[in-house]
Amino acid sequence: MYDIGIDVGGTGITAGLVDDACRLTARKTIATDRELTAQGMAETLMRLVRELMAENGVTSSKIRTIGVGVPGTANASTGRIEYANNLPFCQGNLRDLLQAQTSKKIYFENDANAAAWGEYMSLDKKPESFLMVTLGTGVGAGIIQDGKLLRGVNYAAGELGHMTIRYNGVPCNCGRRGCLEAYASAEALIARARKAMDKKRESLLWALCDENQGNMNAKLVFDAYRRGDKTAVKVVTKYAEYLSEGLANVINILQPELLCIGGGISRSGDILLPLLQDRVREKIYSRDSAKNTELTVAKLDNDAGVIGAGKLRLCNENQRL
Ligand SMILES: [Zn+2]
Repeated sequence: MYDIGIDVGGTGITAGLVDDACRLTARKTIATDRELTAQGMAETLMRLVRELMAENGVTSSKIRTIGVGVPGTANASTGRIEYANNLPFCQGNLRDLLQAQTSKKIYFENDANAAAWGEYMSLDKKPESFLMVTLGTGVGAGIIQDGKLLRGVNYAAGELGHMTIRYNGVPCNCGRRGCLEAYASAEALIARARKAMDKKRESLLWALCDENQGNMNAKLVFDAYRRGDKTAVKVVTKYAEYLSEGLANVINILQPELLCIGGGISRSGDILLPLLQDRVREKIYSRDSAKNTELTVAKLDNDAGVIGAGKLRLCNENQRL
């Protein structure tokens, strides 16, 4: 038997077959049409599901449930997506529109929560408290305590990216200033690298992006760091400094057993993790405690969102709805 997981992102939508061992056995990705209404989105997602099943010879009797991870607040009471910058027209009851097209139970959840759930489900030994920060276009997070996702009174809990780390700092998409997201997203890292290389024509970053700053991405910044480029070392070190401020804040509040770094940047965890471990240890209030939060890097990479969405059934069995 399989569950189907769907990860709706700002640029792409991936649907996958998730087996009972939490493995993603097949997937299909399409580009996100940001102009879609909720009705259009529901039709697009169900078409994607049908194609995924047909291409893999899977019949309806082999499917248990369908879970969808969406950007913004996935309000499980109303079935609507709230505050999704990437999907401005997707207003309406997306969950009910999906449910109307299938007899399979539909679950829907915030994308960072779904990714955290996926990563948590993949762990052999489940920690009592778990937090995953997803570093991508923005900074998202999912918090799991005693096997349950922390959703808050309005399903908007865990928005770690919008905690300020600098009073009156740089503007953030949410309307505030100085949010962690404005300093620690992949986009913020790229913007900082572009600014730094403008002042250093000799930086290796120029060669790595073929002399075109439009080609810059997070991986190239870490590649240059690995090769000892001074500009990249400065940019990455500053990035780790900002990120550690946010992580220390959240550790001080929640003291989770395990804090996992996910998203595209986690691919450079070999560089980032040691930088963070040192800085976070210096900053946390509990630095003298016998036991402290363990920092790790996500294992599932970009598959966490699809796998987690596919396994929302198990999350919701534990959840008060
Ligand atoms: Zn913000």
